[in-house]
Amino acid sequence: PNTQYEQLRRRIFTNAQEFWYFVHSGLVELQKKTKDVSPDVSESLSYMISTGFEHKRSLVRDIAQIAEVDGYSIWREKESNDLSNLVQERFAYLQNPPDCATAKKLVCNLNKGCGYGCQLHHAVYCFMVAYGTKRTMILKSKGWRYHTGGWEEIFKPVSESCTAPNGASISNWPGNPETQVINLPIIDSLSPRPPFLPLAVPEDLAPRLTRLHGDPIVWWIGQILKYLLRPQDKTQSIIQETMTKMGFQRPIVGVHVRRTDKVGTEASFHSIEEYMTIVEEYYNQMELNETVKKRRIYLATDEPRVIQEARTKYPHYEILGDPSISKTAAISTRYSDSSLFGIVFDIHMLSMSDYLVCTFSSQVCRVAYEIMQNYYPDASARFRSLDDVYYYGGQNAHNVVAVLAHEPKRAGEMSINVGDSIGIAGNHWNGLSKGMNARTNQIALFPGFKVKNKIETAKFPTYSEANS
Ligand code: GDP
Repeated sequence: PNTQYEQLRRRIFTNAQEFWYFVHSGLVELQKKTKDVSPDVSESLSYMISTGFEHKRSLVRDIAQIAEVDGYSIWREKESNDLSNLVQERFAYLQNPPDCATAKKLVCNLNKGCGYGCQLHHAVYCFMVAYGTKRTMILKSKGWRYHTGGWEEIFKPVSESCTAPNGASISNWPGNPETQVINLPIIDSLSPRPPFLPLAVPEDLAPRLTRLHGDPIVWWIGQILKYLLRPQDKTQSIIQETMTKMGFQRPIVGVHVRRTDKVGTEASFHSIEEYMTIVEEYYNQMELNETVKKRRIYLATDEPRVIQEARTKYPHYEILGDPSISKTAAISTRYSDSSLFGIVFDIHMLSMSDYLVCTFSSQVCRVAYEIMQNYYPDASARFRSLDDVYYYGGQNAHNVVAVLAHEPKRAGEMSINVGDSIGIAGNHWNGLSKGMNARTNQIALFPGFKVKNKIETAKFPTYSEANS
């Protein structure tokens, strides 16, 4: 298929959803205003909402079906595998240099003072810089707050042959091309910043990724996680056993409810009902194509009470989840050897789900979403975040480009010319996004359908020697 066709297909899908977010939230708002004063208006609005949902489901189903009947699904599978094999070969090549004694290295200390998701993202960032500078990444992890014995007891070592952080010359970032070993700081204090940071994908892969995938940077991060998180056999078998015991089955929606220390500091509180409303609609949509014998979710949370609350309030759902995992996930017990399995398992289950409902303010859910990309040619639309749009901590500006002009119709709306570049601050999931127009410096709301994503690229090495 040509790129334009694939992009159009995805765009129509996204904008059918955005259209309904817009209309639905407007109708709900009106309904609140008229409920007590005008019962018949309120009744009409209910009718419009429920019939509107049916319109939306039918549209979304038909659009999704286009990808099944256009004859390109075999191509999508193959292209996805080919691209993954290509970069995984390059990663193995980079990480296993022929002579470790002279190899250029980039040293990364896993122990960033933060949670598991945050530490994984730290390692991923390190790997991106290693790949961009052609240096073997050395991961220091002894005394890791989640597993004192170190990374290698849980996951395969990031290199088979080159793991020592020593060399003839050692320097802190940036060093120079001749320095054998360079220590990389955390992304927050990185200076100067190389061009290899998110949201940039390797330029040589960009044309293929732009065609295949709705959000190439998420694919790219997913590939790095695929390499880093290769489990040791023991880890693999415990995960398998636990999954079987728990009764993992499809369909399944992954729900992540992040509470404890996050609420009120880095994110707002969201009730279980907010998550489940979206899950309900996911299954309503699915019911248009097939009967769903059992509505099922996997519920991961750091608040042990949430699992019981969900089971009480949603008895017709099968709710997979383990309150004892949540107990080790709560703030006071979190950074311990005994909590590691819980977070590894929860992220695995979330990533294996058909769809994710969560808050992207949490790195736990963003990691799950990134890993999920490894199981489909394009899983970029398989989520709904209750708060942020996808982002990567420490990323460069996330810009979109206007494809339609906009005149403000209400206070708080932005004026847009076609071609304007807008830095995205968030999606309000009501048809409107917030951002800053680079032409006018105005920070305001605008209709999400009037822009398209800009794919950022950087000149990473192309590793032709690895793929020959
Ligand atoms: P963030 O703070 O939510 O952005 O994510 P981080 O991963 O950086 O830190 C939160 C930490 O809390 C995680 O790494 C876990 O240790 C713990 N945690 C949060 N939510 C869950 C959950 O749903 N399950 C488990 N097992 N642990 C969680």
